[in-house]
Amino acid sequence: MEEELRSLLQDLESFKLSTSDRPDLVDQMKQRVVRIGDLAKPGAGKRSKVKDMSAEVVDSNPYSRLMALQRMGIVENYEKIRDFSVAIVGIGGVGSVAAEMLTRCGIGRLLLYDYDTVELANMNRLFFRPDQVGMTKTDAAVQTLSDINPDVVLESYSLNITTVKGFEIFVESLKEKPGKSGVDLILSCVDNYEARMVVNQACNELGQTWMESGVSEDAVSGHIQLLVPGETACFACAPPLVVASGVDERTLKREGVCAASLPTTMGVVAGLLVQNTLKYLLKFGQVSPYLGYNSLKDYFPTMQMRPNPQCSNSACVERQKEYIQSKPARDAAAKAKMEADASAKSEGPVHLDNEWNISVVDDNEVDVPNSSNTSDRLPDGLVHELPSADKYTQPLVAEEASPIADDLEDLQRQLDALNAS
Ligand SMILES: [Zn+2]
Repeated sequence: MEEELRSLLQDLESFKLSTSDRPDLVDQMKQRVVRIGDLAKPGAGKRSKVKDMSAEVVDSNPYSRLMALQRMGIVENYEKIRDFSVAIVGIGGVGSVAAEMLTRCGIGRLLLYDYDTVELANMNRLFFRPDQVGMTKTDAAVQTLSDINPDVVLESYSLNITTVKGFEIFVESLKEKPGKSGVDLILSCVDNYEARMVVNQACNELGQTWMESGVSEDAVSGHIQLLVPGETACFACAPPLVVASGVDERTLKREGVCAASLPTTMGVVAGLLVQNTLKYLLKFGQVSPYLGYNSLKDYFPTMQMRPNPQCSNSACVERQKEYIQSKPARDAAAKAKMEADASAKSEGPVHLDNEWNISVVDDNEVDVPNSSNTSDRLPDGLVHELPSADKYTQPLVAEEASPIADDLEDLQRQLDALNAS
């Protein structure tokens, strides 16, 4: 392409010298060719980093719609998202989409783990492109994500966490080090139980909160689950039958049969996973302890699982003990927070700007006017055309005898006279 553009420039120059009577027009065309050439260069069109997240409503602000969550009263401090680190294990159909969502939301740091490479067979899902075939999934993800949002710090770990070496590097990468924060949340987006058990082990050892996700192999259902070591059930507390029975899941796979996958189901599960991640990190709404998705019936079951005191994972049992021991301290902290919230509420109005002049008054202080009068009250100069609907007005009854009755008496007299004659 570069060569083509260069020869086009030469042609334009010779055209200008030979026949053109509008050299200015040719110069303009040459400038356009140079601009097209610049755009085609690698790295062109990339946006520069943004120092502070701004709520300014301009087309050039990548965060204006996200910062608007504050003005809408959903999130107290959206910019705090930059302080968080999220690790995603498994950059497949769910993990890659979750990574893109968090990148676009401006997460501070993303750690990506996968050992696989991009294949053409992955193209029925979202995120990866055919030109990335052969790249490791983590490198391909970093390439795309850094283009989308250069503010996010991306770390790529092309390794298998189920190997001894891989597990060591995985656990080390999650720990807090001098000048480097730990991880706030781990998202498990793997497609097998062995890897889930490894993430579970690492999180129980570190006391690390994580979220599990999964899509069924018939591609029509999925789930997400929040796991807080000691507080909720871990993955081994109520293991799936395959794990509990100790069968090697690889032996269950039939030759030539692969799991089905749909970009829709995976997109929904990734959306639910990141939605709950945002709620968990930015402290808004309610984080689902377990949320299922059955796409055939559009059914979303929820439930909560307590930890199993007889869990086979010793680190889980340790975390459960710690959780029970710390209960008095947690209760005291919760009570102090409630009292602080209550006193803050009584101190004054929550909203300083009140453009609609809405005020809250005590029910007892309201001067409740007579209910029959309230609907009748109209501004000066206006009158009701029709009577009020709930008021039945008695028809006017004449004091004197009805004219109809008079007529009947008169008729009776005439009949009597006729009978008599
Ligand atoms: Zn457990």
